[in-house]
Amino acid sequence: MRIDIVTCLPKLVESPFSDSILKRAQNKGLVEVVVHDLRKYSTDKHHKVDDYAYGGGAGMVLMIEPLVNCIRDLQSQRDYDEIIYTSPDGPRFNQSMANELVLKGNLMIICGHYKGIDERVRTHFISREISIGDYVLSGGELAAAVISDAVIRLIPGVLSDETSALTDSFQDGLVAPPVYTRPAEFEGLKVPYVLLSGHEANIEKWRFEQSVERTKERRPDNLEER
Ligand code: SAH
Repeated sequence: MRIDIVTCLPKLVESPFSDSILKRAQNKGLVEVVVHDLRKYSTDKHHKVDDYAYGGGAGMVLMIEPLVNCIRDLQSQRDYDEIIYTSPDGPRFNQSMANELVLKGNLMIICGHYKGIDERVRTHFISREISIGDYVLSGGELAAAVISDAVIRLIPGVLSDETSALTDSFQDGLVAPPVYTRPAEFEGLKVPYVLLSGHEANIEKWRFEQSVERTKERRPDNLEER
């Protein structure tokens, strides 16, 4: 899988991919994440990529020309399954979208900044828009990192225990059961005995019951969807 992220501020998006699980995924060759600096696609001598909004008002808008130059340059090198624009008014990102995106080969993610991007890019060059929640960020860089992280950890082989992503919250409509590690007792606070029992079937049963209980308590909306 390959993810190309287009941004006017590459530094904002590079660090989440330079450590831990996402870095190892790239080192193992399971995913290639390439960050593109939009300024390289500007024809302006000062590498300008934004301009004032027509009609006035506060805030700059990312210009159509550098964005389209970049999209076309990348498209000339490979086919993209989706060209995604991160946008607060798009459909809200969730686990099932991540499950769907991990099946794709090449994704391009366009990060907006300032007031957003010229609407003509959204209308004519984007195949899909995604919001990461009902709040407004300064730019799409963190959203692109969130989406990529949720997708990359689902690629088989990325997590050391392959089944591990399947037991995470939301995969089966249930939130995850509580987890504990050593010591078995800390200042009188004990780990539930069943987890120390070594009895696999009982542990499985306990985890399932905890998941159902927690989902009822915390995310009843998820149970209704099941
Ligand atoms: N004026 C826009 C917000 C611009 S915020 C509006 O009111 O809708 C600047 C950029 O940050 C956007 O272009 C988008 O790419 C990104 N962004 C902001 N909030 C986001 C969210 N919740 N999800 C995904 N991207 C977001």
